[in-house]
Amino acid sequence: MPYLFCEEHGQAREADSRTYQEHYDELGESVLIVSGRLKTGPWLCDRCNATIPRGGTAYLVTGFPRWIVESVNDYDFGYERGYFPMKGEERIAVYGAHWPAVQDESGAIRAPRRRADRPQKRRPIYAVELFPEKVQAALLERPKQLEPED
Ligand SMILES: [Zn+2]
Repeated sequence: MPYLFCEEHGQAREADSRTYQEHYDELGESVLIVSGRLKTGPWLCDRCNATIPRGGTAYLVTGFPRWIVESVNDYDFGYERGYFPMKGEERIAVYGAHWPAVQDESGAIRAPRRRADRPQKRRPIYAVELFPEKVQAALLERPKQLEPED
């Protein structure tokens, strides 16, 4: 689930993510953090309830488990676009497991791509809703991985 934080708590959350990066990596989790100036709002910080006005600096933090990270070949930052312009001014960081859809082979962040063929949604969409077919496939495969060994 994505969380939106004010600048102070966004920085604190990112520092935690950096500190526990190896732990995330062991668990196969990735934390995607996008920070920049809000194009919508006002919103409330999920930690302190402070009001973050439109144009104010905010951090959007989303954790992704391995089975999503590995099954996603493309990521268009659709959820993040609900909050930020995503025109190159934002800072994007990934902590934990390598995420091929967002990072290239060297680990550098790929530039977010806009999809002209995707219709505009009226409500914010969660990242997992961006690729329902892939999530569906991953869910179908999942029970096999969870079966105990004899
Ligand atoms: Zn806060």
